[in-house]
Amino acid sequence: MYRDPFRGSLTLPSCSGNTGGRVDECLRNRRHKGGGSTSENIFEQYLNDKSVFLNREILSPAYLPEKLLHREDQIQQIASVLAPALKGHRPSNLLFLGKTGTGKTVAARYVGQQLTDLVSGGDPGRLEFIYINCQMIDTHYGILYELSKRFFTSEEVSAGIAPPPTGWSIDRVYQTLITRMRDSGKVVIVVLDEIDKFVGKSGDDALYTLIKMNEAEIARPNEGASVAHVSIIGISNDLKFAEMLDPRVKSRLSDEKLVFAPYDAQELYDILMQRATLAFMPSAMPDSVIRLCAAIEAHERGDARRAIDLLRVAGEVADRDREKQVTDAHIQRARARIELDCVVEAIKTLPTQSKLVLLDVILNAEVGNERLTTGEVYNTYKELCRKVGMTALTQRRIGDLISELDMLGILNAQVRSYGRGGRTKEISASVPLLDSKRTLLADELLQPLRDYRPKRQSTLD
Ligand code: ADP
Ligand code: MG
Repeated sequence: MYRDPFRGSLTLPSCSGNTGGRVDECLRNRRHKGGGSTSENIFEQYLNDKSVFLNREILSPAYLPEKLLHREDQIQQIASVLAPALKGHRPSNLLFLGKTGTGKTVAARYVGQQLTDLVSGGDPGRLEFIYINCQMIDTHYGILYELSKRFFTSEEVSAGIAPPPTGWSIDRVYQTLITRMRDSGKVVIVVLDEIDKFVGKSGDDALYTLIKMNEAEIARPNEGASVAHVSIIGISNDLKFAEMLDPRVKSRLSDEKLVFAPYDAQELYDILMQRATLAFMPSAMPDSVIRLCAAIEAHERGDARRAIDLLRVAGEVADRDREKQVTDAHIQRARARIELDCVVEAIKTLPTQSKLVLLDVILNAEVGNERLTTGEVYNTYKELCRKVGMTALTQRRIGDLISELDMLGILNAQVRSYGRGGRTKEISASVPLLDSKRTLLADELLQPLRDYRPKRQSTLD
């Protein structure tokens, strides 16, 4: 059984003295004892609370560490590819591939920082390093506009010389931008992080035009044709990303391919240690706890983001318990909380029909029908549809939705064989019932089902 480990962990101020539980009397006592008005504030006691954190920001995704550990090879390789930029030449394009949390984004930001530090120390005008997260900006226009912001002033936009946020044709934005880039004489390095999101939304062709920016020749009066010096660094969590691309895009983008492997336990330990020393109060985060956290994440995915998150949430749990030191138990509770957050997020984004099926299984479990056949799920499902005024899908379709929920790890649908060749699915919920139900009922469409109780069913018992 799943238990909410956080219930009751937030303690509200209690009144001392025997008040017989009467609230008004209790308040009067407090006022009397406290004297001044400041003692009435319920948050006051938290104000002076000691935290295990020295600086929590160090554990946020935005923090750029001073040194990247265990990525020396990649950093060297990136530096050698980008080095021509220092002399005003266009570097080759680059592609970073690796699963989430393997340090691709941070490597790109780190190298960009180093490069701009060095160049701006000498000649401020020679290099433009532009980072774009395609999860936020995934349209062709959006990306061109983002680039153009670095080459035009807002006055130029107002004067109609530079691209506005929307409204011009792509072609016009493109021509205006590369002409300005070329005229600037700068080397432009563009990082397209989560590049697969951009290709997914805008297609290979859009990416192709960006990659070709350095090839587009622009006639210059008296000088013949010249080109803008633009390089692209593409980053993707999808290891097969390059394989999906049109060959002409693929060959240009993956001039140089860098693979980021998941971190092992020792590497994660070092990364966590580097952060923990800056983020936590001295002795608030014991070495053994960092080891445990590294071991857990190395075993799961080798994802540094998750490892850092786990450390942060464990610190928050310790703070709520008002303890001065984070323990193994806090790590375990932090895991449960993170897992629950993931489940809740996954449930929130389900289509309504799938939500109905999940609620169906949960409501059944609540009345003791913990293992159901597809037919039983379907019986309840039809009832639920009637109550919320939705048209019921066919049983076959509901079978498909159950399989999908099984694949997401939200339901558990095992095929069970009976004698004489009989086979049926045995369906149960594999998410915490109470929290999941609460999340489902937050959907307005499902609210009429708040008090619905299915009948007891018994096929599988
Ligand atoms: P990715 O882009 O591959 O998904 P990130 O670069 O966002 O992963 O890294 C996830 C988190 O782990 C970030 O907070 C990052 O600063 C940290 N991190 C990753 N690799 C390292 C490293 N080698 N040294 C220090 N911190 C790292
Ligand atoms: Mg990233």
